[in-house]
Amino acid sequence: MGAENAPLSYRCSRCGNTFKVNPGGANICPICGFNCGPDKCRQVEASDEGY
Ligand SMILES: [Zn+2]
Repeated sequence: MGAENAPLSYRCSRCGNTFKVNPGGANICPICGFNCGPDKCRQVEASDEGY
């Protein structure tokens, strides 16, 4: 519903940090170095983050 261009983030399943998905590349958590993926970390919409 109107969120088709919302940026996606991964929520690291190891440390809980949220960082922007890198499409077509490696998604390494900048905090702990965990290698996130669609089957490892939960994807969250980041559009309403940081208010
Ligand atoms: Zn992490």
